[in-house]
Amino acid sequence: MKKITNKSNNISQVAKYIAAWDSFILIGHEDPDGDCLGSVFSLGLLLKNLDKKVKVGLYKPLNNKYSFIKNNLELDYFIVEETTEIKEDTAIIALDSSDSERLGPAKNLLQNHKILNIDHHIDNKHFGDINYVSPDSAATGQIIYDIADYMSWDINKTIAYYLAVAVLADTGFLRYSNTDRSVIQMIDQLMAKGVNIYEINRDLYGKEKPKNLKLIGRALNNLTILEDEKIAYLYLEKKDYEELDANFEDKEGIVNYARDIDNIEVGILFNEEDDRVKVSLRSNDYYPVNKLAAEFGGGGHPKAAGCGINLDLKTAIEQVISKAIELNKEYRR
Ligand code: AMP
Ligand code: MN
Ligand code: MN
Repeated sequence: MKKITNKSNNISQVAKYIAAWDSFILIGHEDPDGDCLGSVFSLGLLLKNLDKKVKVGLYKPLNNKYSFIKNNLELDYFIVEETTEIKEDTAIIALDSSDSERLGPAKNLLQNHKILNIDHHIDNKHFGDINYVSPDSAATGQIIYDIADYMSWDINKTIAYYLAVAVLADTGFLRYSNTDRSVIQMIDQLMAKGVNIYEINRDLYGKEKPKNLKLIGRALNNLTILEDEKIAYLYLEKKDYEELDANFEDKEGIVNYARDIDNIEVGILFNEEDDRVKVSLRSNDYYPVNKLAAEFGGGGHPKAAGCGINLDLKTAIEQVISKAIELNKEYRR
C-alpha cells in the first residue's frame, strides 16, 4: 500500500536530490519526539548504506526519555549551535518539522544550502528547495519507509527498529486515529526484520523516573473541566518541577489525561517554562486543535498540536481557553 505514488508529491525529485549529493546533514524539530529521532536516524543509516557521508544534528544531547536510542546508534550525532557552520558541499534534510522556526538553532544552516523537507504535517510551510509533504502519513517515519520501499533500499534490523519507534510513537502505539491498515502492514514488515515492539513499548513508556511521575499527580490536581464546552485542562508550574527536581519529558503522556475524559473533546496542558508557556493540545473527534494552536503562532495535526506563548501562565490559560471555547462553538457537531 504505497501512499506516495498517488500523490502530487514527486518522488523522483527526492531520488534526484539524493543522487546529486554525497554529504548530508539530517535535522529535526526542537524537543524531538520518537518520530523525529526515529526518522532522522533511520534515514541517516539508509543514506550511509548508499555510501553517503551522513551526520545527524541535534541541539541537545539525547534526553533521558530517548537515551535508549543510543544503544542502537550506528550513526553518531553532533550538537548544532547558533554558530555552527557546515561545508558548502553538504545538503540538508529536515524531518518531521512543519516550519523552519521549529528547527531551533539548525534553521541557521538552511541559508546557502539545498534543503529537502520531508514531513507529514498538514500545515507544513514548504520551506525546502524540495518539499516532500504527505499529511496522510501517520508519521514522518512512514514516509521514509515508503521512500525506502519505492527505491528498493535495504531495511536492516537497526533501520527497522528506528522506523518502528517513529511510527509507534506518533500513533500512540497503534491506538490513535492515524493508525490505518498501511501502518499495520508496515509494522508487520518491520517485525519480519526482527523488530520487537514489546521492547520498544518498554523503551518508550516503561522506564520513567518516579520523581517525574509525581508531576502527573500535580497536574491532575489542577484538572479543570468545562463540561458544557467539552474542554478539560491541566497545568504545571515551574515550581512543580523545582520542588520535585523533575524533568518529565513525556508531556504527551500528561495531556492525554485531559483528553481521555468521558464527554470531553479537547484536552490541554499548560506547561510553564523559563521564558514561555508551552501549550499541548489534543482532541478526540471533531475539533481541529491545530487551528487553535495557529491562533497563537503554533501548529500541528488536527488531533495533536501545540504552541509556545510568551505570557505569564495565568494570562496564557485565560487567552487559550477563551479562544478554545469560541472555536468549539464553530466546530461542534
Ligand atoms: P506536543 O504537544 O509538543 O507533543 O506537540 C504536538 C504536535 O503539535 C507536534 O507533533 C507538532 O506537530 C505540533 N506542535 C507542537 N508545538 C508546536 C509549535 N510551537 N509550532 C508548531 N507546531 C507545534
Ligand atoms: Mn514530531
Ligand atoms: Mn511526526
